[in-house]
Amino acid sequence: MVRTRFAPSPTGFLHSGGVRTALFNWLFARHHEGHFILRIDDTDEQRNVSETLEPILSGLRWLGLDWDEGPEVGGDYGPYFQSQRRDQYQAAVEKLLAGGHAYRDYATQEELQAEREAAQAEGKRFIYSRRWMAETPEQAARFEAEGRSAVVRLKMPREGVCRFKDRIRGEVEFEWAQEQDHVIQRADGSCLYHLASVADDAAMEISHVIRAEEHLSNTPRQIFIFEGLGHEPPEFAHLPFVAEPGSRNKLSKRKLEKYLKNPDFAKMHQHGVAIAEAIGLETAAETFNPVIVDFYEKVGYLPDALVNYLLLLGWALDDRTEFFSRQEMIEQFTLERVNRSPASFDPNKLLAFQEHYMQEMAAAEKLPWVLPYLEAAEVLPSPHVDEPSRFVTQMLEAAGDRIKVAGESLHYPELFVGDDVFPYETKAFDKRLKNAPESVALLTAFRELLAATEPFEAAALEASMRSFVESEGVKIGQIIHALRVAVTGKAVGFGMFEILEILGRERSLTRIDRALSLVETPPS
Ligand code: GLU
Repeated sequence: MVRTRFAPSPTGFLHSGGVRTALFNWLFARHHEGHFILRIDDTDEQRNVSETLEPILSGLRWLGLDWDEGPEVGGDYGPYFQSQRRDQYQAAVEKLLAGGHAYRDYATQEELQAEREAAQAEGKRFIYSRRWMAETPEQAARFEAEGRSAVVRLKMPREGVCRFKDRIRGEVEFEWAQEQDHVIQRADGSCLYHLASVADDAAMEISHVIRAEEHLSNTPRQIFIFEGLGHEPPEFAHLPFVAEPGSRNKLSKRKLEKYLKNPDFAKMHQHGVAIAEAIGLETAAETFNPVIVDFYEKVGYLPDALVNYLLLLGWALDDRTEFFSRQEMIEQFTLERVNRSPASFDPNKLLAFQEHYMQEMAAAEKLPWVLPYLEAAEVLPSPHVDEPSRFVTQMLEAAGDRIKVAGESLHYPELFVGDDVFPYETKAFDKRLKNAPESVALLTAFRELLAATEPFEAAALEASMRSFVESEGVKIGQIIHALRVAVTGKAVGFGMFEILEILGRERSLTRIDRALSLVETPPS
């Protein structure tokens, strides 16, 4: 049975690169009808784990990356928190000691440092002499009598090579001579990552370790631990990292300032900031950062778009196919098609996926994504709207493909707010109404026509307008801009006649009347 795991540390945020790792683990498990396990690499010292874990769990849930075992869902191999598995780690350390794969080391920091410096002076690589190694209780007792305390180190091979097959990189070789006797347990009894991770992977019967490439060089010592524990190592697959926009460096949450110098990245960030500010969200770099998945949720991206984008950031079926439903991804996913080199994060491409998924949706499907923004910005409920859902759906229909990210609905508040409160753009109002007496006269006349047009639908309204300008002998531009500013407050926007239809006769006339009355006393 295929068993994969995603093993984040509870850092308080879900990194986009981390999600890509989670996604590939999830896809591989689903493809093979196996289990996807969420294991939390927390340490004993960490406090408030639930607080720093929550954003990770909610991010994975938002993306639809469900786990079969782990926090909140349990499973047969728990606990799934490293801080609760101390006993297992102790047992693993003892097993390695008993098998001669590890030893207690009583060297002091100073003694090690002296050896290191001596090697350096001779221009040699530092290899620990193992002078303070205790392999028997008698040796240990002797060192302890001197007041020394021990760490536990791996007794690594010093010659030969460690060879393994990586599912992405193929045959990989490391010389054992390049390794150190790595510490696996500190003097205070706490265990280090390598020991804990391998003990867990063994106990949880993980079949495939799919993780970031920065762990490739950790693999030899981990294989050594697996073997010392008498456990067959799992298969390994090391993913190239997600790189910064326009470079091959690893994408980092801490480098937001640098990324903002990239115009595409800056545009995406700024777009998000405007939406967040409209609904009163914090936009400090700590919490509002496109490297963190939560950014996309806050701004109103679709999880399907983000997942599809991240899938192709490191994997391809062929050189053509771009869009994959979840089911298609699961069917097609193989580790062999993962790229070996890093792929740069590309905001424009992500946006193109977002647009695609948004275009695929009917207005009614968009509603649940858009409505929360209007509510949060208090654009709804408007006293004039009895059925917000129906009203907003109609608005979304009129908007067509203009709202590409759910939060962008906030760019058009005038469509949603009450007729007597929506604001006018001063410049547009002055140009099209206040300083345009001819347009005002035309609008006043056309208002009467609107009051009588049957049915009050886009096509009929447009026909009315055409015959009106013809009989007046004017150009459509002389009235339509005035009409738009009067009805929406803005110089540009959605299809004019669709807007009228959506607002309905009464609301349209109310808006025109309000504008006309304001020509006398222009808005400040
Ligand atoms: N907690 C480790 C990390 O986030 C897990 C590494 C691994 O997958 O072995 O890097």
